[in-house]
Amino acid sequence: MRMILVGPPGAGKGTQAARLIDTYRIPHISSGDMLRAAVKEGTALGVEADRFMKLGKLVPDEVVIGMILERVALPDCAAGFMLDGFPRTRPQAEALDAAMHAAGVELDAVVLIEVPDLLLEERAVGRRSDPETGAIYHLKYNPPPPDIAGRLVHRKDDTVEAVTTRVQKYHSETAPIIPFYQSKGILKRVDGVGEPDVITRRITAALNS
Ligand code: AMP
Repeated sequence: MRMILVGPPGAGKGTQAARLIDTYRIPHISSGDMLRAAVKEGTALGVEADRFMKLGKLVPDEVVIGMILERVALPDCAAGFMLDGFPRTRPQAEALDAAMHAAGVELDAVVLIEVPDLLLEERAVGRRSDPETGAIYHLKYNPPPPDIAGRLVHRKDDTVEAVTTRVQKYHSETAPIIPFYQSKGILKRVDGVGEPDVITRRITAALNS
C-alpha cells in the first residue's frame, strides 16, 4: 500500500498515521517529523528549515522534495509507505509522481482528512507530544497520563500565530493538490471531526471501498 495522508494542520494526520501503520505494516514517513529531527540535530538542512517552520511557513520545495524522495527510495519502502505532510504543494506532488513513475510504482490512495478551520486552532494549541514514545496528546480531548506530563513537548509552531499562517498556507499551497489526485481517481475524503477511533474506522472503510 502506497498512500498519502493530506489535511490541514491539526487534522489528526500524525495521530491517524500512528494507528494505521499497525494495520498496514508500512513505514510512516512524516516530513514534519523528519524536519524537526534535522532541526534538533542542527544539520544544515535543519538550520535552513527552522527559519520557515517556526513562523508556520512552508520549507522550500527543493529542500523537502530531495529529503522525501531519498527516504522513499530506501529498501523499507519497497512494499509501501504512508506519507504524512508530504506532498504539500503542487510541485511536490508532481515531483513525487515523476519519481514513482520512474520507479515503476503507483500510489494506491490519497486520504484527505477534512476538518473545519474553526476547530484547527484549538486542536493545535492544546497539542502535546511525548518525545520518548512519539505519542500525541491533547490537554482537553486526549489528556496525557499525569506521570509523563512533565516531559511533554509543545511544538513551537503550535501557537495561535503560527497556526493561523499554517492554515492559510494549507488553503493557498496544499489544497491545489486535491484536484490533482481527484483526477487520478485515488482521492478518499474522510470527515475528520470526532473521536480518533471513529476516524480510524472511517479511514479504513474508505481505503477498503
Ligand atoms: P507538520 O508536522 O506536518 O505539521 O509540519 C510542520 C512544519 O514543517 C510545517 O509547518 C512546515 O514548516 C514544515 N513542513 C513539513 N512538511 C513540509 C512539506 N511537505 N513542505 C514544506 N514544508 C513542510
